[in-house]
Amino acid sequence: MEKSPDLEHPIKAYGYAARDTSGTLSPLTFSRRTTRDKDVRFRVLYCGICHTDIHFVKDELGMSSYPFIPGHEIVGVVTEVGREVEKIKIGDKVGVGFLVGSCNLCEMCANENEQYCAKLVMTSGSPNFDGTYTYGGYSDHMVCEEHFVLRWPDNLPLDSGAPLLCAGITSYAPLKKFGLDKPGMKVGVVGLGGVGHVAVKMAKAFGLEVTVFSTSPAKKQEALEVLKADNFINSRDEEQMQVVMDTLDGVIDTVSVNHAITPLLNVLKPNGKLIVVGLPEKSFEVSAAPLVSGGKIVAGSMIGGLKDTQEMLDFAAKHGVTADIEIIPIDYVNTAMDRILKSDVRYRFVIDVANSLSASLSS
Ligand SMILES: [Zn+2]
Ligand SMILES: [Zn+2]
Repeated sequence: MEKSPDLEHPIKAYGYAARDTSGTLSPLTFSRRTTRDKDVRFRVLYCGICHTDIHFVKDELGMSSYPFIPGHEIVGVVTEVGREVEKIKIGDKVGVGFLVGSCNLCEMCANENEQYCAKLVMTSGSPNFDGTYTYGGYSDHMVCEEHFVLRWPDNLPLDSGAPLLCAGITSYAPLKKFGLDKPGMKVGVVGLGGVGHVAVKMAKAFGLEVTVFSTSPAKKQEALEVLKADNFINSRDEEQMQVVMDTLDGVIDTVSVNHAITPLLNVLKPNGKLIVVGLPEKSFEVSAAPLVSGGKIVAGSMIGGLKDTQEMLDFAAKHGVTADIEIIPIDYVNTAMDRILKSDVRYRFVIDVANSLSASLSS
């Protein structure tokens, strides 16, 4: 007979959960599974707040289950490993990103593109293979299979490195996959939020010439002086857009609000590639002319597989790429989410889980 989820998951855990679509998180006691043979168990130290967390908290994608514990930019220290774990030992620093399971049988899994597996298990609010739902990193500890656990490079900061597990791989993977990683290439980054600001740093680390496109001219100084972009274009200014017509090898579009993409196709050279990584609600309108006459490509990309994510962390450590963050205690999470919706953060909130969760529960 199958065991009930409670018997399968007897280890007490604490976290911050949404109970309904109101979007408010509060403390929750729940349970996690015992450490299986291939499992790694770790204490959560830091967890980034990604905009996607808010979509799920409020069930804006129509696929949430409650209670919902967000968090897929998780960094921690290993406390227990199963008998068959090979590469990770107790005391190691590790990370977990957007996925904690996949079928391991399909073509996508075989090609290390686990993120596109039809049976993908997301780190938060996803049905797991044992019938229970997954809970994310706004919690005291995590347990998942070794295959989905990233080794944390020694010289990569734990706090400002955490957002790389989503924002970092979201920009690194398409730059590599679409061949936009050769020094001297000219690449545009559209939108300067959580993903966009890391995309600029990744592109610079590859040795690319980076042009930032933003609708907020106020971000120009920051883009050029702090993030070290080479050019800044106010995408609402037709004259400025005209100057960069037909000049770029690729564009990474990180914007998740509705916007037109034809102007972005126009700034590409012939054979240029527009890679969409944001998720606007409305469909894009694309006219055939710039695609056909310029041999241009519109493509999409979602995070990355585990091999690419490990490679990205090692690359970030080598080149000093981290996110710009504001560290917060976990009981600030509701305020932080409100501020994200107002674009009032530079550029990522990271929860100091280890130092604030237990204090928050006992107060
Ligand atoms: Zn994310
Ligand atoms: Zn699969």
